[in-house]
Amino acid sequence: MQSMASNVIVILGTGGTIAGQAASATDNVGYKAGQLSVASLVAAIPALAGLPLETEQVAQLDSKDMDFATWQRLAAAVDRHLARPEVGAVIITHGTDTLEETAYFLQRVLAPRKPVVMTAAMRPATALQADGPQNLLDAVAVAACPEATGVSVVLAGQVHGADQVQKAHSYRIDGFCSRDEAVVAWVEEGRVRTVGAWPHSGEALGLNRIARAAGAWPKVQILLNHASADGSLVQAMQAVGTAGIVVAGTGNGTLSQGLEQALLDAQAQGVKVLRSTRCQAGPVLDNGTGLASAGSLSPVKARVEMILQLLA
Ligand code: ASP
Repeated sequence: MQSMASNVIVILGTGGTIAGQAASATDNVGYKAGQLSVASLVAAIPALAGLPLETEQVAQLDSKDMDFATWQRLAAAVDRHLARPEVGAVIITHGTDTLEETAYFLQRVLAPRKPVVMTAAMRPATALQADGPQNLLDAVAVAACPEATGVSVVLAGQVHGADQVQKAHSYRIDGFCSRDEAVVAWVEEGRVRTVGAWPHSGEALGLNRIARAAGAWPKVQILLNHASADGSLVQAMQAVGTAGIVVAGTGNGTLSQGLEQALLDAQAQGVKVLRSTRCQAGPVLDNGTGLASAGSLSPVKARVEMILQLLA
């Protein structure tokens, strides 16, 4: 492990498979996420004993159920700890399912200069091949790395930036990738080898931006283009008070004629629309349709971005 200096690292627990338990060590899917406390996850790793670590349980959920109220609490906790001069970094244990959304949300809201390192596991803590302990140990190495900045995600020895990270496989232990192969670093035997760019600090939107009661956040939906797609879902979304729609188009964010027309109509009626792509990588370039591009953000991150814009 690289030098720890004397900085405190705060580890915030939110649940997930990393804190999950199954009845049998050979059961990798029939488990319950969010069972073990973050303090017990840390205590189970002898290599972390004696390091200046603190833990706080912010939530205890399966991240498929992540919600705006938990995001508010988490962002406030991260901000509170990063403001302490003795704290050098914050680590967050999280479920893998919506990790990329939370990472992007925290990067945009806090744009932290100190590292905020998220980690997770594809196997529950009870599994024969539990990956959580190594991932958490690697997260501590990243948190202590002098080059690290912004919100990053560490799994299976790879470090991804908040903008690019995405869950790419439903089962494999190395289930995460960086969009457009933009990996930030590798962790090997506790050493961080930087090969890309750490997330830029940029301008933080700030906690005031997300202060509105969670139940009153704008409703933003995601829609897919596919063979024989029409505009009926757009109208259904408008009927339930949708403020924004991110459409995951085909290829360069292209849309069937019916869907495109329905989105143009919705936009004319005040619904915010962004075109992204259902492809695993690559940008969406302006194609003159009159519907704005989400750039190189994945559909789920474009949705987070749109929510943050609508909260302004
Ligand atoms: N459903 C779990 C979660 O996101 C999956 C995981 O953590 O791997 O909390």
